[in-house]
Amino acid sequence: PFDTLMIGGGPAGAAAAVYAARKGIRTGVAAERFGGQVLDTMGIENLISVPHTEGPKLAAALEEHVKEYEVDIMNLQRAVKLVPSPQPGGEHEVQFASGASLKAKTLVLATGARWREMGVPGEAEYRNKGVAYCPHCDGPLFKGKRVAVIGGGNSGVEAAIDLAGLVAEVTLIEFMDELRADDVLQKKLASLPNVEVIKGARTTEVNGDGKRVTGLTYEERASGELKTLDLEGIFVQIGLVPNTEWLQESPIELSERGEIIVDARGMTSIPGIFAAGDVTTVPYKQIVIALGEGSRAALGAFDYLIRS
Ligand code: FAD
Repeated sequence: PFDTLMIGGGPAGAAAAVYAARKGIRTGVAAERFGGQVLDTMGIENLISVPHTEGPKLAAALEEHVKEYEVDIMNLQRAVKLVPSPQPGGEHEVQFASGASLKAKTLVLATGARWREMGVPGEAEYRNKGVAYCPHCDGPLFKGKRVAVIGGGNSGVEAAIDLAGLVAEVTLIEFMDELRADDVLQKKLASLPNVEVIKGARTTEVNGDGKRVTGLTYEERASGELKTLDLEGIFVQIGLVPNTEWLQESPIELSERGEIIVDARGMTSIPGIFAAGDVTTVPYKQIVIALGEGSRAALGAFDYLIRS
């Protein structure tokens, strides 16, 4: 059995593995896809001290760093069930889709999250070619251009406010007849001169010229009429879904949105089981934050091990 086992090999799981291994404890990482969301990212310009890198390059660097230490990396392993130790201080078990199962005294759950997609034609084709999901990451790429934000909840309205300071024009598109964001955000949005809001609209297609986004088509729901907008960027803000489906039957405490609830040391509601990164309730899902949270969870796990 492992002293500590990370489930997930994105920035959070990788950082946790490095921190744990440096304590000389038996460390493993089991991940469906080592690298995580970073593998789907093009330019990364907010990893402090690295002015510019690319997703696959960063994923390779994460793996290389983990491999500097004695860490068992088990790639292509999808966890399907968590069986916590029945008594405190015992071993927790994780079962995988492959039929394998692993035991460890402590776990760091770092299975990340995924952006909810619109599922319309052109969205996948133009991902990273105008279709974006993270305003903190990709906003500056659209400086002086026209963008749309899809979704009028808190994250959509926050994104529109954020982008309005960078880009030429923002069009926010909401499916319902009203925005769902908090009042203060809606007021702030309404005060901005370069933001237009279209409500009751269903985005039906991302348009492009084969290389990049050139616009989008939406249906005005009341009339059924199709309309198009010419623009260079589309930020999809219709939700971030934590990868916790596999924990739904476990006793681990999740928030209303399905995120794992953690304390200041990264520990979940079950002693000895920690969590880090986009899968937790910690706000602002970013690489630097996941790296920090992963490191903290590993130190939390080590602390737990020496006390039990
Ligand atoms: P993830 O990266 O999601 O990794 C999760 C890991 O868990 C993966 O290894 C996955 O395979 C594994 N996993 C999932 N489910 C299971 C399971 N059941 N069993 C086993 N393993 C499982 N952030 C920035 O800071 N800067 C950027 O420029 C930036 N750009 C982005 C661009 C895009 C297109 C996307 C999608 C995200 C971007 N982000 C960016 C966000 C950043 O990628 C995430 O915040 C970060 O990757 C979170 O790390 P994580 O380790 O928590 O989760």
